[in-house]
Amino acid sequence: MASHNVNRQPVLVVAEVIDGRDIPTICLECLATGRKLADELGGDLAALLVGSDTAAAAEEIAHYCVDAVCLLDDPLLDAFVPELHAAALVQAYERLEPAAILLGDSLVSADLAPRIAFSLNVGLVTGCAAIDCRDGEIRLVKPVYGGNVMAEYAPATVPFVVTMQSGCAAPAARSDCARVEVTARAVDLDASVAKTQILERVAEPLEGPPLASAAIVVAGGRGVGSAAEFETIRDLASELGAAVGASRPACDHGWAPARSQVGQTGEKVAPFLYIAIGISGALQHLTGMSNSHTIVAINKDACAKIFQIADYGVVGLWEEVGPAFCVAVAAKRR
Ligand code: FAD
Repeated sequence: MASHNVNRQPVLVVAEVIDGRDIPTICLECLATGRKLADELGGDLAALLVGSDTAAAAEEIAHYCVDAVCLLDDPLLDAFVPELHAAALVQAYERLEPAAILLGDSLVSADLAPRIAFSLNVGLVTGCAAIDCRDGEIRLVKPVYGGNVMAEYAPATVPFVVTMQSGCAAPAARSDCARVEVTARAVDLDASVAKTQILERVAEPLEGPPLASAAIVVAGGRGVGSAAEFETIRDLASELGAAVGASRPACDHGWAPARSQVGQTGEKVAPFLYIAIGISGALQHLTGMSNSHTIVAINKDACAKIFQIADYGVVGLWEEVGPAFCVAVAAKRR
């Protein structure tokens, strides 16, 4: 990276908003990370929103640590169609010429980021925990081997594309006044490049706060035992105002919807409190939640791997521990 002069080039954060409205915590963490990098490089921080009817979210992002907010608004970008979103982002790149393109880790960015990197023929590192910049040398820091080793990657291209995992930085702080005006730009899309067509969108009813940005997650695994027992996980989550998470087997059994899955192939979360119930602590699960601030594990097996990363642990059967645990939680809340 040292051989490329990236000084004063902007850093671009692609802001993925939920349903065109809500700004998830990971987006604010990316803005904080992007701000730090832009300051190191002496360039601006630009946020980019790609979608339809996202003007209100763009106005909101202008209240954070950005130097520019750019909006690509087109009805063709309403639902996520990978080819169209990638084409829009490439057009944004051509106008802004950023040194780095940051996205938050999500199911959308897992599809989009490689497409952008491929289209621009540049490097990509996914799932980074931090970006270090010392004396102009950029290092992308990523946990590997289930978080046992932190690998450092030096980007060899300008720009480079990076996806940041939950908990990568403290979320950017909001200021009362908007710092910048939003610039809406036209985008020239060819609908025929889309290889998929959205026929219908069915909104799943959401229980509690969204998993990705919840302050508390109560997650159940195979050890919970049944769909009926999983209801106790939901009750506990509801009592705590928490989101419900699940390991893959719990989703595969149909006890929780697939969107509740936490882990390598599910959602990456970093809540203040993660309560893991009947979850063994397989690497693929830990990848999605080990950045949580405080981890409580309940498991009948004292040797379960989850206890190696838990701050507090209860060894016991959920059927026996659960009722007393829920009563204790409820009592504390009153
Ligand atoms: P188990 O490993 O079976 O553990 C159940 C635990 O419950 C045990 O520790 C047991 O002691 C405990 N237990 C049993 N009964 C009780 C009881 N009555 N009370 C209390 N404790 C009890 N997994 C994910 O979670 N997320 C992913 O994103 C993911 N992606 C994957 C991707 C790939 C490519 C692969 C190969 C696997 C992936 N997996 C993922 C699966 C992962 O490897 C594990 O199989 C899974 O996480 C185990 O889930 P679990 O802990 O619920 O079940």
